Amino acid sequence: MTGTAKKATRDWQSLDAQHYLHPFTDFHDLGRKGSRIITRAEGVYIHDSDGRRILDGMAGLWCVNLGYGRRDLAEVAYRQLLELPYYNSFFQCSHPPAIELADLLAELSPGDFQHVFFTGSGSEANDTQIRLIRRYWTLMGEPERMTIIARKNAYHGSTIAGASLGGMGPMHEQTVLTVPGIAHIDQPYHFKLGGDLDPDEFGLQQARLLEEKILELGPEKVAAFFAEPVQGAGGVIIPPDTYWPEIQRICDEYGILLVADEVITAFGRLGHWFGSEHFGIRPDLISFAKGVSSGYLPLGGALVGKRVADVITAKGGEFAHGYTYSGHPACCAVALAALRAMQDEHIIEYVRDDLAPYFNARWAALADHPIIGEARSVGMVGAIEIVRDKSTRARFDEDLGAGTRCRDLSVDGGLVMRAVGDTMIVSPPLVADHGHIDELVDKAWQSLDRTA
Ligand code: PLP
Repeated sequence: MTGTAKKATRDWQSLDAQHYLHPFTDFHDLGRKGSRIITRAEGVYIHDSDGRRILDGMAGLWCVNLGYGRRDLAEVAYRQLLELPYYNSFFQCSHPPAIELADLLAELSPGDFQHVFFTGSGSEANDTQIRLIRRYWTLMGEPERMTIIARKNAYHGSTIAGASLGGMGPMHEQTVLTVPGIAHIDQPYHFKLGGDLDPDEFGLQQARLLEEKILELGPEKVAAFFAEPVQGAGGVIIPPDTYWPEIQRICDEYGILLVADEVITAFGRLGHWFGSEHFGIRPDLISFAKGVSSGYLPLGGALVGKRVADVITAKGGEFAHGYTYSGHPACCAVALAALRAMQDEHIIEYVRDDLAPYFNARWAALADHPIIGEARSVGMVGAIEIVRDKSTRARFDEDLGAGTRCRDLSVDGGLVMRAVGDTMIVSPPLVADHGHIDELVDKAWQSLDRTA
């Protein structure tokens, strides 16, 4: 163990329970089971304080795309911290790492994105988008365009604005005071909502909910549509092929801004630099975070397309928004190195032409398991739906907690999968090889065998 004192697992767990308020964790579960203490990691594996080596099927939280233990990234951080550990980019200041990273992101992004606003996280990126959208419409002389339409079961972050934008019921219940001017439409979740409808028909039907909502609110009041190309935390909801073209048509027809929250789907996750390319989406604004630095240091941002950037820059005046750590030099330097490593190591091509096709084929075979109602994947994200009855798609009784049980059994068996209710999801590092994918699918199957 490096850098921290060696302790027995129970000592770590007891200190943890006494002092550490965990995000997204049920405190009763924590008290009962204790937390799993992760002490180190290399490649696609993490190690816990009991000495277990576990295949990280989630790349941390969908972010460690280049895998763990990269000396090159650590050394870039070290050198940058010595050279210039911090300076802000407020009040007409700037610094080389942020400038170079903005330049590279402009080069890698699809469409006409020449401007980037840096943040410390995906949540802050989405807060920034709300500010940008409102500023844009105000400068355009249409300040009444206030409402942003987002989707149920979407995740856009944990700040008050991110939680308001997201469509997660429990977050809304706990937030109570959500940001006004946000409306939600239903999601393109065929397994749950599609019934007997053909997926393409269902895709059109769900996309047209946007048009219905625009007409209900009044087109002159709608500012933007905000969505993840693939809903990640909601359970890897992959829209039918008809969905995004229809959404794009509707946004174009009513002149509303389209924001792609690509915090998960950018930087190779779908076999492209940006997931929008996979679906042929032409967003006006893109949020990113996570994979931009492969999770080595925190960084996020808003890519601002020409339509919005031209108005905001040409009309001048101050955009009264920013974070102390917007464009933090060390975070930018590491992100720059991570993206250059992706270019040098041809990660996008590897994912698109080799890894993802292999993963998609092997993952699909999980549909043959007796308690799996659907296995779906796109690029390097996948989901399986645990059911009691394959023909009716009926779930197990809630008391069984099939998803949580499967998750715990899976980690004990050496694989991190995440449970979203009874949907199990994965998002492996993009540097995995075929052997890792075999191990992932075999271990997922074994966990399902033991779940019910
Ligand atoms: N948007 C999406 C699509 C996400 O998946 C997440 C995090 O998982 C966020 C925003 C929030 O990002 P962060 O946790 O960096 O604030």
